[in-house]
Amino acid sequence: MKSDECKSCEGCKAECCRYVAMEIDTPESLEDFEDIKWYVLHKNVNVYVDEDYVWHIEFITPCEFLGDDNKCLIYDKRPKICREYDQEECTFHNEYSERYSFKTIEDVEKYIEEVFKKGLHKIPDD
Ligand code: SF4
Ligand code: SF4
Repeated sequence: MKSDECKSCEGCKAECCRYVAMEIDTPESLEDFEDIKWYVLHKNVNVYVDEDYVWHIEFITPCEFLGDDNKCLIYDKRPKICREYDQEECTFHNEYSERYSFKTIEDVEKYIEEVFKKGLHKIPDD
């Protein structure tokens, strides 16, 4: 991630240090969507479905060790996930389009009516 050595991070405001995202189970019943609604009711918590139909929860919150200059304050001690992050695949250098994005309970209800109930949802490949 952002570092002095990382020339390809020039011009980026450390996008990759400003959120946490992790994969979640694909909702397969109306009951499952109750959890999705609960997630997005929280401030700065979103859910999205990526290009491969994999569902993720996303917490928009900066790392506590991101400096005002957008550089890592603990560069030598940064976690493995930060060390292994590939600039070539990051959001700053690539166009990623989410298939669906849920920021509000209405977004979830719309998806249920227009996609899920019509059987148009997809389960990602294993
Ligand atoms: S999002 Fe990409 S360009 Fe920006 S700091 Fe992270 S790795 Fe560098
Ligand atoms: S530890 Fe450093 S590189 Fe990792 S998220 Fe925090 S600021 Fe970014």
